[in-house]
Order: sequence, then structure tokens, then C-alpha cells
Amino acid sequence: SFSTKSTSIRENVQVMVRCRPRSKKELQIDEEPCWLISPEEGSIELARLKAPSTISTFHYDNVVMGVDNEQVYKAGILDLVRSAMMGYNGTVFAYGQTASGKTYVSYLFYCAHQKKKLNLLFFLDYGTENEPGVIPRAVQEVFSYIEEDTSGREYLLRVSYMEIYNEKIKDLLNTKNTDPEIVEDKKGVYVRNLKEVIVKTAQEVMNCIKEGEGNRHISATDYNEHSSRSHTVFQFVIESRSKGVPANANRGVRVSQLNLIDLAGSEKVATDIERRKEGGYINKSLLTLGNVISKLTSDEPAAHIPFRNSKLTRILQVALSGNARISVICTINPTFASKDESLNTLRFAQRAK
Ligand code: ADP
Ligand code: MG
Repeated sequence: SFSTKSTSIRENVQVMVRCRPRSKKELQIDEEPCWLISPEEGSIELARLKAPSTISTFHYDNVVMGVDNEQVYKAGILDLVRSAMMGYNGTVFAYGQTASGKTYVSYLFYCAHQKKKLNLLFFLDYGTENEPGVIPRAVQEVFSYIEEDTSGREYLLRVSYMEIYNEKIKDLLNTKNTDPEIVEDKKGVYVRNLKEVIVKTAQEVMNCIKEGEGNRHISATDYNEHSSRSHTVFQFVIESRSKGVPANANRGVRVSQLNLIDLAGSEKVATDIERRKEGGYINKSLLTLGNVISKLTSDEPAAHIPFRNSKLTRILQVALSGNARISVICTINPTFASKDESLNTLRFAQRAK
């Protein structure tokens, strides 16, 4: 059941670590697996310590390995989606190094854009190829929840989709929106003029995502390159009221957000100036995100939560405050070569709780 205390949301923050399986090539390079995982205990540790080390075993709500987005969804996301339908804000983050599986877990159109060149309608193509990620599953859940709801509520759903690149917001559903700035007024904190599309079916949602992906203006080959340096925020606003309550009455109205976020790659970046600049922005926003989540889950009530230190956390201020649910899926690469980045990810995951 749900905590009604707004001071501690620790129990409403789920942290999961997922190690993707090794590719054929990776299996040739490393003879043994780098990480030992125990899903039952929710633990993960380095398999082979070359030198004596202080690194110990890490524990999380869930630790998984393998090709099973359904397991990930059921363990960490399903409840969050359902509570978003009941009026609680929910946010899912995919955090990790580039190529660790963030997009795989959140969208799973990876195969689609490789093989079918951004044919993202493939999203809802269940069962024919691979497994859908968290976003298509959540979208499906939202609509089946409404269909099965017998309590006599009416729902209004709106979606928006944005990208944050170098601390600049881009409205992916309206490229003419040249200045999607964050504003704060009595309605709260939100992005001014952000296009919100009213949606009535899962297919309509998928069409919005498809349109948004098209607006990232990148060729399929650059896709992963670019996507690794920007955050995307997919937002559902779920409004519901008891049937018969007039549309202009506030009585009995519930409004919540469901945010699904594919973060920029968490790796330390390279040398050239452009990349360093991007890296600086990415580091700052991921660091801020870590600080915000860690303060939200801290036992001592935090006087100041640094939402303002990055666009991402500022946009999510309302969704992360108060009685919110948060799910952090941290993805790691399975190789020894990525060990240090994986450790950084595991530390981020640990701070979140
Ligand atoms: P990221 O978004 O973190 O950069 P991707 O999601 O693009 O990483 O994944 C990188 C590669 O690994 C892709 O080829 C993807 O298909 C594969 N992959 C990622 N996670 C899994 C998984 N759980 N099972 C199988 N393949 C995966
Ligand atoms: Mg990606």
C-alpha cells in the first residue's frame, strides 16, 4: 500500500540493476562473466577480483540479467503505472553507460530502427520480434486500466515528448516551438507552450512517439550516437473525474503525471571540446538527479532539494515531489572493460535509495 507521508518516499523509490547479456563478440573477449548476480537476494558483485579489493556486494530492490523486459516491467514499473492511474505521480528513469541497454529497456525499438529504419510502429508489434520495452508496456497498461475500470471515472490523457540536449529543451511534438522555457506560476512548474496531444488509443500514443523521434532530426546511423548525449522525457498527464462531474468543476478531479525517461549515457567523456561541453552538461544533470533522489529518500527531511540545478530535475520537480513514485532502472555492461563505469552506475543506484 501507499505511503501518505510526503516526507519520506523511500519506500516509493524502486531501484533495479540490470546487466545486459553478453554479445557474441563479448563472449569471445571475456571468458568468464564480469558480474555475479543473485536475483533472489537482489545482489550483484564482481566475479573475479584481480587484486584484493574493498569492493563488496551491492544490494538493490531487484537485480536482473538477461532478455526479459517483462520481468523488469513487472518488478519495478507495473505498480507505478497503476498508481499513476490512481492519481499519484510516477517517474521511471533508465540510467547507465552508453550501450548498456537503457533504450532497450525503455523502448525496445532498437531492432526496429536498425532493421526497419525508424519504423517505430513496430513498438506495439508484440510477440513478433523481441520483447517490448517499458514504454510500450506502460502505454498498453494505461489503456487497459481505463477499459477495465468499473468505478465510473472518466479519463483524459495527454502526452508530450521532449529532448534535453546541452541543457536546451526541444519540444519533439512541435518543432515550431522555439522557446520551450520552464516557468513557475500558480499552476506549478511546467514547460511553457509545450505541445500536449490528447490521446485516446495506444496507437495514437505510439504515433506521437514516432513523430517525436522523427523530429530529432538525425539519421538512423547517428541515432545511437546522438541519443547517448541527450535525455528524453516522455510525459503522460492523466486526468480523471467521477462521471457526471462537470468538466469545469475541480471536485473529484485527479491529475497525475507518468514520466518515462531515457537518460543520456553516464560515462565519463572524451577529449574534444564539443564532447567535453556535452559531457559537462550531462554530468551536471545526472549528478543533480542523483542528489535530488538521494535527498528525497533521505531520512532527514531535506530543507533544500536542488531541483533548479538542472533542466531535467526542474521539469520533474512536481512529479518527484510529495507523494511520488520513482523507479530507477540502472543498466550495466557485462564486460570487464566496462567494469569501472559499471561500478559508477552501481554507486549511483546505491545513492538513490
Ligand atoms: P543504451 O541505450 O544504453 O545506449 P542500447 O539499449 O542501445 O543501449 O543497447 C545496446 C545494445 O545492446 C543493443 O544492440 C541492444 O539491442 C543490446 N541490448 C541491450 N540490453 C539488452 C538485453 N537486456 N538483452 C539483449 N540485448 C540487449
Ligand atoms: Mg540509448
